[in-house]
Amino acid sequence: MATTDTQNSGNRRMPEQARIARFLETWLGAPLHALEFVLQWILVKPTRWFWRHLDSWSYKLEGTLLRKILSSTLFPFTLVLSVFVGLKLVENGITSLTLVGFVLLPIIYGLYCAPFERLMPYSRKWLEGGNDTAVDIIMYFSGAFWSGISGLIVSALFIIGMVEALEPYGHNLWPDHWNPVIQVALFILIKDFFRYWFHRALHEIPALWRIHAAHHSVERLYWLNGIRAHPLEILSQAIFYAIPLALVQPSAEIALVAVILQLSIGIFQHSNIDLNLGWWEYIFSIGDNHRYHHYPDKGIGDSNYGGELIIYDILFGTFHNPRDERPHDNIGIGTAPDYPMTVAGLYIAPFLPNQKDVFRVEDNSDEEDTAAPGASTLQPAE
Ligand SMILES: [Zn+2]
Ligand SMILES: [Zn+2]
Repeated sequence: MATTDTQNSGNRRMPEQARIARFLETWLGAPLHALEFVLQWILVKPTRWFWRHLDSWSYKLEGTLLRKILSSTLFPFTLVLSVFVGLKLVENGITSLTLVGFVLLPIIYGLYCAPFERLMPYSRKWLEGGNDTAVDIIMYFSGAFWSGISGLIVSALFIIGMVEALEPYGHNLWPDHWNPVIQVALFILIKDFFRYWFHRALHEIPALWRIHAAHHSVERLYWLNGIRAHPLEILSQAIFYAIPLALVQPSAEIALVAVILQLSIGIFQHSNIDLNLGWWEYIFSIGDNHRYHHYPDKGIGDSNYGGELIIYDILFGTFHNPRDERPHDNIGIGTAPDYPMTVAGLYIAPFLPNQKDVFRVEDNSDEEDTAAPGASTLQPAE
């Protein structure tokens, strides 16, 4: 922190902050910008033609019986299919083939989900973004990398001692003899209880909201951007989960099937597919539940925290999904409309005193100071 003049107002310090942030984003982030650019040209732009080609089919599908059937059955069908495929993958224990299948899964889910987004979109506005797909592809690998690192950190910290101490009790506690499908459901039920409180804390504690804002920076919802998370969120979540998961430790096979199921629910949480989910929206954190969660107005967005399940929101009073309403498609961070949208910017943003101003492109310095009504802001509560 600059020592010079403690009486400096926030305004006076801003240009300096802006310069440092811009410098870091531009130069330290240069390799990432290059990668975003390459991905955009190699992967995103060439496939755009194909996706746009499906649009004419989506108009033909509108109002048909086929679309009605698909919108009611796609989610439950995928759920059953995921459990079936997951159990098949671990049938003979965890082999290298299981792991290859597991690594390929997000790609398979993408190939499965992306055409449905185009054929029966919830919002046509959400069908195309700017550079967000390139950013999300990098964030996917970044997430995998930081998950690996978090495993090492959890091992290195004192937690490893506790995990070992709890392990004998954990194995006794876990009902290994139950039907595998029930074990998977139980694992998700326990894990999501912790996810609920962790996610709620990410929204309600200003310092944590800064970190989680990276996830809420998305301006549209589509199958891939559920994985967008700041490394600090990934690391702290892993540490937060370590003790409870050590206590109830199921077999690696059950955990793997549960992760596959979580991935498929996660994709439907963010997907831009217009589904008729009915009572599934009272069990799972999908569809409209998560669209409200991404509202720019935190008065509404601070709701529906469940990772896979919505039951804890119903139980603890944070469920928001009025039956007679259809969520609008203007999403993002109401308090920081100019939030950085590059990988480097997303990495840096939580450490800046005022993200809204620092990354603004035009220099209308003092003018606007608009926070959404009822919003807790990204700015420091100095
Ligand atoms: Zn959130
Ligand atoms: Zn989300």
